Amino acid sequence: MAQRGRGEIECSRVSVILIHSERFAEHQTPPGHPERPERAEAMDAIANRWRARGIEIVAPRAATVEQLARVHDVDYLRRIAETAGRATALDADTYTSPESCEIALLAAGAAVDAVERVMGASRSSAVALVRPPGHHAERDRAMGFCLYNNVAVAAAHARAQGAGKVAIVDYDVHHGNGTQHTFEADPHVLYISTHQFPYYPGTGAAGEVGRVAGRGFTVNVPIEVGASDEDYQTVFAHIVLPVLRQFEPDLLIVSAGFDAHERDPLGGMRLTTPAFAAMTLELRAVAEACCFGRIVAAVEGGYDLHAFAASLDAAIGALSGPPSEANWPASGIASTRGDAAVAAVRPVQAAFWTL
Ligand SMILES: [Zn+2]
Repeated sequence: MAQRGRGEIECSRVSVILIHSERFAEHQTPPGHPERPERAEAMDAIANRWRARGIEIVAPRAATVEQLARVHDVDYLRRIAETAGRATALDADTYTSPESCEIALLAAGAAVDAVERVMGASRSSAVALVRPPGHHAERDRAMGFCLYNNVAVAAAHARAQGAGKVAIVDYDVHHGNGTQHTFEADPHVLYISTHQFPYYPGTGAAGEVGRVAGRGFTVNVPIEVGASDEDYQTVFAHIVLPVLRQFEPDLLIVSAGFDAHERDPLGGMRLTTPAFAAMTLELRAVAEACCFGRIVAAVEGGYDLHAFAASLDAAIGALSGPPSEANWPASGIASTRGDAAVAAVRPVQAAFWTL
């Protein structure tokens, strides 16, 4: 019996679990808004496909005030709660519908659930298929389609559960200003972002490296518009992966945005779908080496429905089944933007990491 029990644990540990609810479509945005309910329907279809392949899908619980208050002001939580039952504009492109505050609690709660599954070691990896996204949300401000900072709430929860060091890698095409600001003075949470620059939200220059005790634990990799698979492969090989390996996280959290895809209407990058599998496999390999493969991913952006679904599916595929080597697509484009990004970041971060 005991032996079979161990076998079952072994077996379940290599598989991914998905946290998702059809309720994510209930967060409504105005007509024409890119962060639209159809994105939730795309995630429903993905969840159903993975369920048919034997992957477990669980519904999220709402995040609690205690969990949210680790990264958000209590006054801000009250302001968002007061939008219940109403349609409001929180900033120029961030809106609520009557259900939004409840659905945003489920999005943050899904990220928390994903952490609990992985830190509890019942699964090696967990993906929170959620909307609204989170990485632009600041301590006291909604912005960039984001209400609560799902990934920041998840990282703070992991720390509260005993994780000594948490790494967040954000490959969304936008810089995650809210996540950076939440942890910029904290040496226990490493934030690494690859993003189009200059671009919304304007933060994320290479020189932003964190503050006080957190200096060196913010790693920004700004990349010129038009970057290809090769450019991302270059910055992963020379900056993202070496820093991650040296940090040796106890948990790796991915801000999984898919708006650096070549088809995305907001982003100006040229990533192909297989590059999202490659990036995720590279991150998984670090997690296998450092922290028993523990990875949590939470969905951020991605606004071309077809590219979003295909790339998210590729990322989940990279986390399911046995680990394998990243197979970067070869588009044949020289990595000039990647080389330029590495040349800008390396001298700044060399004060903190061997690069
Ligand atoms: Zn984005």
